[in-house]
Amino acid sequence: MRRRSGWSAPFAAVFLAACAADGISGGPQPASLSSSAEATPAALWQLPSQQCRAGDPTDCAQTNSYVMQTRNGSLIVMDGGSMHDAQYLRQFLTDHSDSTPHVAAWFISHPHVDHVGALTKILQDGKYKPELAVHIDRIYGSMLPADTVAKYPWPEAGPEEVQTVNAFETAVTAINAVVTEVEAGQVIVIDNVTIEILAAKNLEITWNVVNNSSVVMRVSDGTKSILFTGDLGSEASQKLLKSRFASRLKADYLQVSHHGQKGADRAFYDVVAPTYCLWPTPRAVWNLPTTKTTLDWMSQMGVLRHYRQFDGLVGIDTLTRASRRSPPPR
Ligand SMILES: [Zn+2]
Repeated sequence: MRRRSGWSAPFAAVFLAACAADGISGGPQPASLSSSAEATPAALWQLPSQQCRAGDPTDCAQTNSYVMQTRNGSLIVMDGGSMHDAQYLRQFLTDHSDSTPHVAAWFISHPHVDHVGALTKILQDGKYKPELAVHIDRIYGSMLPADTVAKYPWPEAGPEEVQTVNAFETAVTAINAVVTEVEAGQVIVIDNVTIEILAAKNLEITWNVVNNSSVVMRVSDGTKSILFTGDLGSEASQKLLKSRFASRLKADYLQVSHHGQKGADRAFYDVVAPTYCLWPTPRAVWNLPTTKTTLDWMSQMGVLRHYRQFDGLVGIDTLTRASRRSPPPR
């Protein structure tokens, strides 16, 4: 069985002390973990950005990268971040695999460079350097055609949008792989982890077209639930709220959309009603007024704790059992 990281009491104590120091959260004390395999929950990690200004690991670029590990050791990746995160992610996956890094399912929320760049780089590297290969059983996504992306350019993204889509498709094709298209209503089960797809591409929304086609998925392991929203925009969040899948949005953890600002609507978050928020957010974005607006919403909703990406690697297994540590030296 592939290795799982254990969660030691000292590790948790470090995390709680750090949280108290930054003054952003309260929340309950960690619960004791059962040693029973049946009771072992899936682990979830929020990975830090690796594209940082020299000497300051808190001054990094925007990225979106999450890894889960099931009770039986299977690894699941959500996005993986940018090409600058590829080496760190590969090492992280290696550290949680028997030998060659092995991912059971790799989900791409949408093909923007800070979400799909790491996978693109890992596929490219693995083709020519077998020692860098990551074995991936299946890649899931909801891919917009490059000509659709080109037809509806988003001013904030620029020409990079189309280049990113093309680079990813080229990398996938080069190794004779495919992206398995997901659709709303689909349920994927991996060991003790259930993944519900609540939204996929929205071709009728032509504004902010790539972000508004983010895959939204709810992941649960029987002890906690996490809602991944990618970079979901206002328009797509309104559509999802009106769909029959709105009743499945409620989750313990919320990955705040679009790095914390100018993403989903307040009404959408009200339905999710998270207890904890995961912020794939660099410090510079955290300090924006638009992010403050989202944070104010969460405070009004009574969110207990905020896990900010620029504080370093965060690991969570049960609802209240969390550890955090600084990223390794770069
Ligand atoms: Zn995006």
